[in-house]
This record gives sequence, structure tokens and C-alpha cells, in this order.
Amino acid sequence: MRRICVFCGSNSGMKSEYRRAAEDVGRSLAERGIELVYGGGNVGLMGVVADAALVAGGRVIGVIPQALASKEVAHWGLTELRVVESMHERKALMAELSDAFIALPGGIGTMEEFFEVWTWSQLGYHAKPCGLINSAGYFDGLISFLDHMTADQFLRAEHRSMLMVAQTASELLDRFVTFRPPQVEKWIDRDAT
Ligand code: AMP
Repeated sequence: MRRICVFCGSNSGMKSEYRRAAEDVGRSLAERGIELVYGGGNVGLMGVVADAALVAGGRVIGVIPQALASKEVAHWGLTELRVVESMHERKALMAELSDAFIALPGGIGTMEEFFEVWTWSQLGYHAKPCGLINSAGYFDGLISFLDHMTADQFLRAEHRSMLMVAQTASELLDRFVTFRPPQVEKWIDRDAT
């Protein structure tokens, strides 16, 4: 893997564990010689993950829409900052550049970006692994809800299990290497619809 995209909060959250998890991800990517791709901001966990990768000697590519560059206080110390026109262009470029996707704790922006790439993989648009760092149990409620989706047959068990959940960056990165996409189509009951 050459580059991994990290989605995370533009806030830091209330627990120190979240910040530590972001540092762990940034540092672990750098130590493995994997470039970090992220939203290019210098705020919240976004700034933390980028700084941790840079301090550990890693390469960091930020992708930020022009309109957000001042609002999210673009990080001008990155290896490369790509300023794009729109949010759609940002997400497309981040997805194209990256070989896998990680979500750290974050808000609705983080969820939107992460769910988009996961749904693309469910549809077979790409075969890149997606994983959550469940720092301090932040995603426990989300994981329960995904299991509820599966139980009520809106999400295939094969697609549910594509999503890797780990406590640490190194555990997740090790599991990414063994990822094989499921060979099933998305629809559970297409004949019935
Ligand atoms: P948040 O998790 O809400 O703090 O947002 C984290 C990142 O997601 C920030 O870089 C936001 O600019 C970005 N973001 C927020 N809303 C969206 C959206 N609708 N589509 C794509 N990215 C978004």
C-alpha cells in the first residue's frame, strides 16, 4: 500500500484518547512508509493526524476545496496541498489517490466521507479496504446499528464484515494487507423487488 486516506473530525472531541488515536495513525503510516491522504485542514483531529505523520518523517497530501481552505485553516506545512473546486472533487481525488480508507472519531462530515467510500466498495466500484479505529468505544453505537441493518436484511453479512474495526492503527494496517473483497452482489432479494 502506497497511500491511505484518513477521515476524521475537524474537532478533537472531548477525550484525550481520540487525539492519541489520531497521533497513532499518523505515526504508524509514516513508520510503514505509507503516505497519508486527508482533508488538508489544520484543525481538530485532522491537524493532529497530519502533524503526527510529518513529525515521524512521513509524506502527507492534503486535498481541500478552495472555499474551505480559509475556514478549515488549510495546513500549509504539508508535503503537498491540493486545492480543488468543490467537495465532490475533493472526495473523488482522495478516493483516487488512496489504496485504503480509515475513519477515526469525527462528526457528520467524517461519517459522510467514510460511508461514501464504503458504499462504493459495496457496489464493486473499487476493492480497497475500509476500517474504523474504535478509540474509547466511540463507534460502539454505530457498530450496533450496522448489526441491526444486517439482522433486518438491509445490509448483507458479507458487506457488513468488509468493514474492519480495530483498536490500534497497527492492528488495522496489518489486517488491510489480508483484505479480500466479497464476491457477492449488493442486493439481498433482487428477484423479489
Ligand atoms: P466533521 O467530521 O464534521 O468534523 O468533518 C470532517 C471533515 O469532513 C471536514 O474536512 C469537513 O470539511 C468534511 N465534510 C463535512 N461535510 C462534508 C460533506 N458533506 N462531504 C464531504 N466532506 C465533508
